[in-house]
Amino acid sequence: MKKRLSLDAYKSGVLQGNRVILSQAITLVESRLEEDMDLAAKLVQEILPATGKSIRIGITGVPGVGKSTFIEAFGKLLIQEGKKLAVLAVDPSSQKSKGSILGDKTRMEKLAADKQAFIRPSPAGFTLGGVASKTREAMLLCEAAGFDMILVETVGVGQSETAVKDMVDFFLLLVLAGAGDELQGIKKGIMEMADAVIIHKSDGENLEMAKQAKRNYQNALHLFPAAESGWSVPVLTASSYTKTGLEDIWNVISNYEAITLESGFKAKNRAEQRVKWLEENLRDLLGNLFFKQPEVQSKLKTEKEKVAKGELSPMVLAKELIQIFIQNK
Ligand code: GDP
Repeated sequence: MKKRLSLDAYKSGVLQGNRVILSQAITLVESRLEEDMDLAAKLVQEILPATGKSIRIGITGVPGVGKSTFIEAFGKLLIQEGKKLAVLAVDPSSQKSKGSILGDKTRMEKLAADKQAFIRPSPAGFTLGGVASKTREAMLLCEAAGFDMILVETVGVGQSETAVKDMVDFFLLLVLAGAGDELQGIKKGIMEMADAVIIHKSDGENLEMAKQAKRNYQNALHLFPAAESGWSVPVLTASSYTKTGLEDIWNVISNYEAITLESGFKAKNRAEQRVKWLEENLRDLLGNLFFKQPEVQSKLKTEKEKVAKGELSPMVLAKELIQIFIQNK
């Protein structure tokens, strides 16, 4: 980290909606230096009262389904509706496939240039758990800075969907119409997480197939058990090229927001999400402390080979290591 501001400077900058300071504050929460982590924890605590007032939307779909094009088009619509929009990403693979998600500057160019939008790529060099917990913190900072719509983009690799589902209010699944086989490529678990399914690229010669796909998805969704929120998952067709269906998606989300505010489901869901966040933090912090302890490190170094060879049970070694950790704490 190049330079660190004071806690007050971060706090007032973020609360005033200063985008430069917001960026720096997100860099701070992504830092793994101990002093940065301490300051970041204080900052998040300080801004907490100013958070929570947004609609948090997760967006997923396989690469090529058109997520960034959709976010650009849908984001523009939200801005026209008077919203301030922050776009974040959870992509554990971004370290390998550099810039596969949001990282490429040419993506969402127009949106990025808009004063009402703030786009932040996925933090590099983190494990999934790390990315997810940093994205949560980035999300809170964006809310404190006045962004009232948060879009969190992720790419279809199972685990990252669960992480995003656990931090948003509404989860959009983007799919493509195929020749009757569209359901095969999508994991059932991901379908079950969706609050709406969007048949994307429903334009031109895709239109007919999209209508069929819509029926197929509707039939498939009927087989799932009812959601706890009482919500029944709509299937919509949309095109980011022709901009059709985008308004319907916004209406669906607004409707969901109104229903879940009224029923108390939104508050309940968020309360559960905060507890999960605590558990994530505990696992992260404990893991760091554990693996950093010299006694644990040296025991692990000498005994690991025995586990690799199948001579020592991993469970036995794990228990011994935990004993060593506790004794040397
Ligand atoms: P991502 O990998 O999911 O982010 O997908 P991109 O947004 O990069 O889009 C993948 C490809 O689909 C690009 O060639 C886009 O031009 C194309 N695409 C995106 N949206 C639409 C759409 O609404 N209709 C059609 N026909 N093509 C689209």
